[in-house]
Amino acid sequence: MSAPRYHGPLARRFRALRTPRPDPWPAEISAAVNAKSAVPLCPNCLLPQEPHPWFCRQCGFPTGDFVALNPYLNIFVVGEVLRRGVLGAPERRLGTQLFLIVFSASQHAVFAPAYWFWMWRRSCGRPIGEERRDVFAIDEKTS
Ligand SMILES: [Zn+2]
Repeated sequence: MSAPRYHGPLARRFRALRTPRPDPWPAEISAAVNAKSAVPLCPNCLLPQEPHPWFCRQCGFPTGDFVALNPYLNIFVVGEVLRRGVLGAPERRLGTQLFLIVFSASQHAVFAPAYWFWMWRRSCGRPIGEERRDVFAIDEKTS
């Protein structure tokens, strides 16, 4: 292999992205996740999901494999993302705030200033509401 031509920090960063990284998971976990008998979980509440659901039956989070690609169901995914931007504790991550500003402007440009106002209220510690999370209870069928 020839010596790299560029040695700057950006070139080193790009070179590091190209080199394959070792798998952080043990082989048995990778095999269990990729097994045909593996059960998908809700990314919001970790409830085991039935085959081909569109929404989690416990928390209502869009969980299906292609929910984000379905034009009608995509509305619920966008709503969940935007809802998370204005509920709960103040968001301190600058990247998340910038994403929500651009995403809200791209999705609903007319209503984006109202959304930004709610984001600002959340950053002041006065969100428009609290996130409602039910207590996770495993029933007998899924355990
Ligand atoms: Zn769920």
